[in-house]
Amino acid sequence: MIISSYDANSLHRSFGIDLGEIDMGAVESFGVGANWGRVGPGRHSDPHQHDETETFVIVSGTGVIVVDAKRTPVSSGMVLQFEPFETHYLDNTGTTDLLFATFYWRDSPRASRVATTAVRRRFGDRPVFAFSTPPTPNGGLHIGHLSGPYLGTDVFVRFQRMNGANVWHLAATDDFQSYVASCARREGRSPAEVAAHYAADITQTLRLMDIEPDQITHTSRDERYPDALRAFFSRLVDTGRVTRQEGAALFDGETGRYLYEPDIGGGCPTCGSSTGGNICEECGEPNFCVDLVEPRPTSGTAEPRSGTITRYTLPLHDLRADVLEHHHVGRAPARLRELANRVFARERLDVALTHPSAWGVPPTQQDVPGQVIWVWIELAFGFIYGIESLGRRLGIDWRTDAPQDDWKIVHFLGYDNTFYHSILSPALYKIASPDWIPDVDYNVNEFYLLDGDKFSTSRRHAIWGKDLLNPQSVDGIRYYLARTRPETRRTNFTLAEYETVVRETLVDTWQRWLNDLGARVERRHGSIVPDAGIWTPEHTAFLARLENRLSAMAECLGPDGFSLNRAAQTLDGIVEDTLRFSRLEDPLGDIEDAKNEARTAIALELAAAKLLAHCAAPVMPRFAARLAGALGIEPPTQWPRLVTLVPPGTKVNLERQVFFGAQPDAQGPPGSVLPWLSGLIREALQLPEDAEVAAATLVALGVKSMQAIALQYQILERTGADVSVEDLLGERTVAELAAFLSSLSPNNSHTGNLAPMAEEAVGA
Ligand SMILES: [Zn+2]
Repeated sequence: MIISSYDANSLHRSFGIDLGEIDMGAVESFGVGANWGRVGPGRHSDPHQHDETETFVIVSGTGVIVVDAKRTPVSSGMVLQFEPFETHYLDNTGTTDLLFATFYWRDSPRASRVATTAVRRRFGDRPVFAFSTPPTPNGGLHIGHLSGPYLGTDVFVRFQRMNGANVWHLAATDDFQSYVASCARREGRSPAEVAAHYAADITQTLRLMDIEPDQITHTSRDERYPDALRAFFSRLVDTGRVTRQEGAALFDGETGRYLYEPDIGGGCPTCGSSTGGNICEECGEPNFCVDLVEPRPTSGTAEPRSGTITRYTLPLHDLRADVLEHHHVGRAPARLRELANRVFARERLDVALTHPSAWGVPPTQQDVPGQVIWVWIELAFGFIYGIESLGRRLGIDWRTDAPQDDWKIVHFLGYDNTFYHSILSPALYKIASPDWIPDVDYNVNEFYLLDGDKFSTSRRHAIWGKDLLNPQSVDGIRYYLARTRPETRRTNFTLAEYETVVRETLVDTWQRWLNDLGARVERRHGSIVPDAGIWTPEHTAFLARLENRLSAMAECLGPDGFSLNRAAQTLDGIVEDTLRFSRLEDPLGDIEDAKNEARTAIALELAAAKLLAHCAAPVMPRFAARLAGALGIEPPTQWPRLVTLVPPGTKVNLERQVFFGAQPDAQGPPGSVLPWLSGLIREALQLPEDAEVAAATLVALGVKSMQAIALQYQILERTGADVSVEDLLGERTVAELAAFLSSLSPNNSHTGNLAPMAEEAVGA
């Protein structure tokens, strides 16, 4: 028998717990590790994860166990068991020591099972707020922007939604950026006008990209926003941790104007690269303008002058431990944690939180006249403000001054924003809401290059989304950006390569296969899906292969290993696998004696097409819906658990579908819209050929919403006009709809010929 008694004098500190060994003999023979654990009153253990299964037996005291943000009260006599990889910590909310015994062992099958069912691991039924970085409205969105946070967030949200998560895409425009003010000076307009103009441009581009956030905050036009921001800033000041401090700053040698951010450039004090004020895009580290190597103003010629100024300032170095602990709660990639370690290696990091500017929100505090709250405070605040705004619309009481531990926040950002998102923001949350443990996943992308050089809004070295995007091109662009976006390293965009990939992969491979499959189903089965007959070993192996592709896709799109590069590869893999299978099965296709095997092969190819429609839905939603329509199945709204056959007897229409690129008859004369639309509606409602429909609304004719969705796609195919179901089922008669479509299509008619527009965009 082994007896271990708790001994308060033989504890050592680890994972934020005072641990004492329970000697159970050799762990190898017992198979279980064991410890006494103690968490003092008012303390909590460090949030952490591991592959072992672990059991706590609470011996004395009271507290709360937090597992993936779910809080459960615990007290003596309770036994708790954690699954592998669950984020857990013990919070002592009582007045005496919280004492427990812990036993842990490695159960590899259990750990593997958890790791491979990662679709919604860690999320449960918690609200999930996915944020695309707020763009600065000093220009439209270019392909570089779109490839990074915006496509990432959209695909993430679509996939989670298909899996039943409570998830929303939240966006904002970062109107009070100093870059907006400098753009306004250049363009001879007010910053507010510039912000409003480009915010509309940004929203329109997102829509063309099939990205419709659930919440968009325009910070300079939201009536509640300035007071709410001031209240947040006052909470920071009221703690006494953000105070007025005199510090060094740069001023224009001639006019005396305060210089920061876009007004000043020089060498990064850390890595030496050429950089602007306050942040280095190259190494990701902040600077304080005065520490730039050979600082020079970006307008004017006078040497900048060093001086001092009193601003509200945060001693960020004091929050080192809090920020580093924060990175253990959610998903914080190595690259981001490496930056945090680098930044916090500095002895002091006094970050000014107010700056002299006429553009921005002045704080309530009157003792820094002419200064505004730094826009990067707005970034941190804007996220929780977005949650509050979304909650107000949904009728849920989410509040900026009472953020909740069960909120799951997922950020998509470029590496150049890492400091603000993952170091400054959590530090500010710690001060403003000390009891809140923000649970944040960070998805960081690197720079996307255009013809070998960084995309740049201010230098207008860019291909603008709106010049490239239209209903015919959007799926190809989403696919190409998913495939090439810079996830682990910088990657390069060229228009020529994009066009080649669309032609060779999407048109000549995917579409050709689907058309060919349609032709075979038409020839052999009259376009009706056959039932599977006899299964050969190769058939069974192909089904297994498709199952593997399905689980690979879920793994690429799930929160733990989210990667659109690998998602695009997997989609391609489905098509490549199927082409290989199709070639192997082809010799038996028309042999009468083998017809029971041949129909199984066809049924499996159709199952592969159905799988492609479902797996592509988050990445290429239009293509997915059209492919599902051509297969005679519902648009994919739920993530499949298994690969399944298309129901036998379904009518398919694949052989002449044009999924990618311009439609052959897209440019019909406007006058032809009414007869064509009338014919389409008669066909949908199975009305006689001479039925009069022009003067009636679709609702009056009996069109249901599913039929309207089908019409929507046919209209899109034919005219390139992306009309909403609401418009179709609105007040317009069929004749008025035809006129409306004619008015829409010229704006959407730039199909196919992309090169001239791109030249214009790059040269502008
Ligand atoms: Zn640098």
